[in-house]
Amino acid sequence: MTHTWIVPLDEGSKEMQPLLGGKGAGLAEMSLLGIPAVPGFVITTEAWHTYAPGSGSLNATLWSEVKEALGDLESKTDRVFGSATEPLIVSVRSSPVVSMPGQLQTVLNVGLTEEIVSSLAGVSSHPASWYDAYRRLIQMYGVTVHNIAGDVFSEVLQARRRDAASRKRPKKLDVGETRSVVEEFLALFRNATGEDFPQDPYEQSERSVAAVFDSWFAERPSEYRETEGIPDDLGTAVVVQVMVFGNLGPDSGSGVAFSRNPATGEKQPYGEYLPNSQGQDLVAGVVTPQRIGNLAQVIPDLHIELGDICTRLESVYRDVQDVEFTIEEGKLWILQTRPAKRTALAAVKAAVDMASEGLISQNEAVLRVDPRSVGHAFIPIFADTSSAGMLARGIQSSPGAATGKVELNRDQEAVVAKAGLPIILVREQTSADDASIMHLVSGILTQRGGATSHAAVVARGLNKPCVVGCESMEIDLNEGAVHFGEVSIAQGDDISIDGTTGRVFQGRKEVVSHAFGEVEELNTLLAWADETRHLRVLVDATTPAEIEVAQKLGAEGVGLLRTERMYYDDHFLPLFRDAILAESSISRERALNELGALHHEEFQAVFGAACGRPVTVRLLDAPLDHFFPPRDALLTELAEGRLVHGSNEDIGRQEQMLRAIDAWRQSNPEYALRGARLVAVVPSVVRAQIHSLFEEACDACRDGALDRLQILVPFVSHGGEINHYLQLIRETAQGVMDKTGVAFAYRVGAAIATPRAALLAGELASQADFLCIDSDGLTESVFCLSRQDRTKLLPAYSAGGIIGADPFSTLDERGVGSLIQSAVDRARSARAGIEIGLHGTHTQDAASIRRIHEWGLDSVSCHVSNLLAVRLMAAQAAID
Ligand code: ADP
Ligand code: MG
Repeated sequence: MTHTWIVPLDEGSKEMQPLLGGKGAGLAEMSLLGIPAVPGFVITTEAWHTYAPGSGSLNATLWSEVKEALGDLESKTDRVFGSATEPLIVSVRSSPVVSMPGQLQTVLNVGLTEEIVSSLAGVSSHPASWYDAYRRLIQMYGVTVHNIAGDVFSEVLQARRRDAASRKRPKKLDVGETRSVVEEFLALFRNATGEDFPQDPYEQSERSVAAVFDSWFAERPSEYRETEGIPDDLGTAVVVQVMVFGNLGPDSGSGVAFSRNPATGEKQPYGEYLPNSQGQDLVAGVVTPQRIGNLAQVIPDLHIELGDICTRLESVYRDVQDVEFTIEEGKLWILQTRPAKRTALAAVKAAVDMASEGLISQNEAVLRVDPRSVGHAFIPIFADTSSAGMLARGIQSSPGAATGKVELNRDQEAVVAKAGLPIILVREQTSADDASIMHLVSGILTQRGGATSHAAVVARGLNKPCVVGCESMEIDLNEGAVHFGEVSIAQGDDISIDGTTGRVFQGRKEVVSHAFGEVEELNTLLAWADETRHLRVLVDATTPAEIEVAQKLGAEGVGLLRTERMYYDDHFLPLFRDAILAESSISRERALNELGALHHEEFQAVFGAACGRPVTVRLLDAPLDHFFPPRDALLTELAEGRLVHGSNEDIGRQEQMLRAIDAWRQSNPEYALRGARLVAVVPSVVRAQIHSLFEEACDACRDGALDRLQILVPFVSHGGEINHYLQLIRETAQGVMDKTGVAFAYRVGAAIATPRAALLAGELASQADFLCIDSDGLTESVFCLSRQDRTKLLPAYSAGGIIGADPFSTLDERGVGSLIQSAVDRARSARAGIEIGLHGTHTQDAASIRRIHEWGLDSVSCHVSNLLAVRLMAAQAAID
């Protein structure tokens, strides 16, 4: 059988990404376009599949093909592997199909040996650079092939650099110093492996390729794939490519350029450059580069050439590109191009701009933006996106940029006194003690901890920028300062942190942030999305304040007003209890009247906030138990009360409450007396709610604040229930209209949360004016699993491979989904065109929205925080 294990970089194209990996395909495409990409070849993902993990060697056929390809590269470049005068030196780079930045391994400078290095150094005007290249090989090979901890090497190097700096010498080590670092590294290598560093370029190559293949299986990349949803069997190709050297003097250097600004999306040259450097240090973040603009001063022609290449690549890939380059003695080489990782703001702006420029279509622009990220477009960022003044890098844990004065004080009152001033709380780690001041500060920076540390979790909850695990920072509380290497920042001095990237900067940086509506491109994108989508997007709300915000975020109305919250309110609850516990009709009447007044206020505020948009009010749904204290607590209280007082009015009430609780106690409250069934238990309360609702709706209609009232009867399972409610509602409505002389429209809908309601959706549709599917409720009743209890079951189920996705996150297409689909069909054949909406947590999920769209529902109703995302998701669902 034929196989494709080797592809020279000048024989591939971007279409070959599955075989060549992203990096390989990008390099091949560039050489096809005549862009100066460094020559080399790719060992394909198909070859990766033949590799025996952990074996450290390639199968004989593959290895002979690799050697042949190295031979071809020798003749193409007029260089020879192992030659002391014209050596071929290569990099061995991972090239996964889906980008996994920094996760897999790469070995640079493969092919260097003692002999070659001393020969090259002997004739070079930059001898130290060659020793430095060799020490880099020993280090990368040691880490990648032999799993030696990287710190072992970098500590030696740092100590040497500090040494040089303390002797007021330039930061770069001289030949003698670099040579002795090489000696130390060789000794470290020998100690750790029991072998000498290999002097055979072929041995170096084979083991490097095998190690890069193996890096796919390491723990961190495996975790990364899991969170990013990248399949484990995709594998990585390996690019073997001639080395170019950016560290050969002032007309050499390396950097990264973007076709648009990845922080703001602006179409302007953007990037970083570091003269006389090998690019690896820059992309790893161990050195601080200059802005790309500096290149324009040093080598203006190359700055222009680079800009042209970025533009060209952007037009070929039709997306923002991130381009790695190296300049070797005045010649520009491109080492990588890939879609740029960008902030939410940049993603929106670039997509809209590219559509306006005609590079992509309007629909493509809508598809380009991740709906989950649109909300982040308002997160503050630094106006200056370069890494100038960067002190350290920690772990990004809560996005956003913040600038302020270092606060080390443990004394809370001292911090409280500064409330309102820009403060960055700096701690080794935060604890529960800090929780009360964390909401007062602008940002949080900790030395230890990861993305699930206390600081990170609390900061995300507070929407405060936060960087954790900034290990290179040392806090000296006695001295009242924080040290970042040689830089010290005292208590009260300015510092800036970027929780989106994990970077920490010296001094004050300008922060820019946008309010919703201010990001013009986002308005455009959402307008395009609104033109495209079929689903109407409504909000699930419990308060007038939420409704007001929702209007601004584009909700077309209130799809579900949950009235329960009103009853849990301190004013409502006692009256509500009085109304159901009342022993005489007079006292019940009194309680109901007071309750009615509260209802009025509440509904008035709701209709006011909705500004004339339709509002669907769901009648009381919760099981009655929710409105009483837990039985055990009540019993204890009662026993104590009796002991102290014997009996009194309070105790009498508690006894009455206990009797009621006992009478209504349900073996399974979720599937008991709730929803439509309440009318049988507490008819007067249900009637009172409907009555207040109509009176208020009548006022609102008269004032033009509402054009139609929609009432949703909750938790229906029988057509008879809808009938009963319809009668009640009609009588009440008629009574109110007669009394006020104002006629207005209303509609009555049925909520579908039980399998029976779904199965009999046709019958319900012939009585009700609209239907509303409660996707959470239906998932619970179809699985016979309550949402609260799912965390006890599902983790074990998914770990055991028993069940895949959590059906409460993504709609269970085959079970719950097919029931919804058939309910829609039944309802529509009973009454053509009946309006059917859906609400539930599934509206957060793009895949579920796609199904909901396909099943032909009319609207979705989601939480206010998801409105923008859902507008976009609904449009994306309509596009393909
Ligand atoms: P990653 O996938 O982690 O980004 P790369 O394979 O891109 O790893 O390598 C990291 C860096 O090494 C590159 O950004 C580049 O600066 C440098 N590098 C890789 N190959 C070469 C080469 N052939 N010549 C010069 N520098 C190289
Ligand atoms: Mg790279």
